[in-house]
Amino acid sequence: MARHFDAIIIGTGQAGPSLAKRFSAAGMSVAIIERNKFGGTCVNTGCIPTKTLIASAYAAHVARRGTEYGFVSDGNVRVDMKRVKARKDEISGRSNRSVEQSLRGLKNCTVIEGHARFQSSSAVAVGDEVLHADKIFINVGGRAAVPPLDGIAEVPFLTNSSMMEVDFLPEHLVIVGGSYVGLEFGQMYRRFGSEVTIIEMGPRLIAREDEDVSEAVREILEAEGIQIRLNAKCISLAKRDGGVAVGVQCDEDPPEVLGTHILLAVGRIPNTSDLGLELAGVATDQRGYIVVDDELLTNVPGIWALGDCNGRGAFTHTAYNDYEIVADNLLNAGQRRVSDRIQTYALFTDPPLGRCGMTDADVRKYGREALAAKYPMSSVTRAVEKGETQGFIKIAVDAETKQILGASILGTGGDEVIHILLDLMYAKAPYTTVQRAMHIHPTVSEFLPTVLSKLEPFV
Ligand SMILES: Cc1cc2nc3c(=O)[nH]c(=O)nc-3n(C[C@H](O)[C@H](O)[C@H](O)COP(=O)(O)OP(=O)(O)OC[C@H]3O[C@@H](n4cnc5c(N)ncnc54)[C@H](O)[C@@H]3O)c2cc1C
Repeated sequence: MARHFDAIIIGTGQAGPSLAKRFSAAGMSVAIIERNKFGGTCVNTGCIPTKTLIASAYAAHVARRGTEYGFVSDGNVRVDMKRVKARKDEISGRSNRSVEQSLRGLKNCTVIEGHARFQSSSAVAVGDEVLHADKIFINVGGRAAVPPLDGIAEVPFLTNSSMMEVDFLPEHLVIVGGSYVGLEFGQMYRRFGSEVTIIEMGPRLIAREDEDVSEAVREILEAEGIQIRLNAKCISLAKRDGGVAVGVQCDEDPPEVLGTHILLAVGRIPNTSDLGLELAGVATDQRGYIVVDDELLTNVPGIWALGDCNGRGAFTHTAYNDYEIVADNLLNAGQRRVSDRIQTYALFTDPPLGRCGMTDADVRKYGREALAAKYPMSSVTRAVEKGETQGFIKIAVDAETKQILGASILGTGGDEVIHILLDLMYAKAPYTTVQRAMHIHPTVSEFLPTVLSKLEPFV
């Protein structure tokens, strides 16, 4: 059986459903295909459930610090993991159902459940059914990478997806991977009450960040009792009585970390190897990411790739921005480009790290004169009042244009405050705009003018 549509969308992650809504509203007939859970990674195994779990972990952490805030507590907070998981399931499940219901309620939209595979550049098969369209949008996302570590076949391990089913407290969680996903789970489980060890192959955590940011995050995690092993060059897994051993070092003692559970958090790979892309002639790069141009069109006219699978971003907001670019350009004759966007994201540890624009390493390569300032959160009144003084605010600007080049805000509210600087960058406004604005007291944001008053030549 063959059916024709104006557009076929593969995947219901962060771009597909919004695209379906826009196309349907424009009177186009749309087929949208999902092989697993509606809403994709963010809704089911990524942002929403992890940030919900982080909220539980934060509450437990603050409760343990009760005496510091002046309320009586015996300090013995125990976390009921079944209830923590039930809260997470409820919030994540609500989003999952809402994505499905809104798609099923769309006019002109046919929802198909199953695995989609290209048959040609204009045909996609789902089971026995073949769908045709002149426009096809790939939004298939990615999944946790499982590298061929020694012993991986013999030892059970968790990923961000299977972590979602955990309703008990691992006695000792060993996390392989010291980047964003690993650090968020690490702090969360330490606060739930597990022993946590984070093992990182490189010489520092979150290696894409500036060294002072990596160092400050390491200190924050270690202060909570998380063990961190860096420079773990020879990672291997083995079973041990009642647990697991992760080999970390070829030549240094102790050579292995003993734990009860392993979480692999060593990166993501795109879901592109089982899509039949070769039958459509769609090109991928060496790592399997679909190659796209600045408007997210693949090398095949009529086929676009959005979200994590195109390698142009690995966040919900980049996937959603991909949708906005494609929809505006196709429906409104827009002129939007991927290269127009400014890098921004957060690490949702506590305190969080909000990032926008260049890191110090980028500023060094910038080739123009820059100014920079760094200011400790311990001097920010709001942070002191909240008892959350870890971290710092760091901003770099172009010395001549006075425009913001980049910022890292590691501190309470950093994930929100960063947007002031981000929006200033989009407006191409000089930093003096923030200095002349009146801000609300007491907030972290009100300190941005103070930080900017300390700008000095970048070294
Ligand atoms: C633990 C974790 C925490 C995260 N936290 C954040 C965060 O706080 N903020 C943030 O911005 N980002 C976060 N991310 C990243 C974010 O989840 C992803 O960037 C985002 O979900 C990507 O969206 P997407 O639309 O590209 O793909 P996805 O959301 O992965 O959706 C792809 C969909 O396509 C379906 N699919 C795949 N292949 C096929 C096929 N052949 N046929 C039919 N359907 C198919 C999949 O089942 C899936 O539903 C996190 C990720 C993880 C793993």
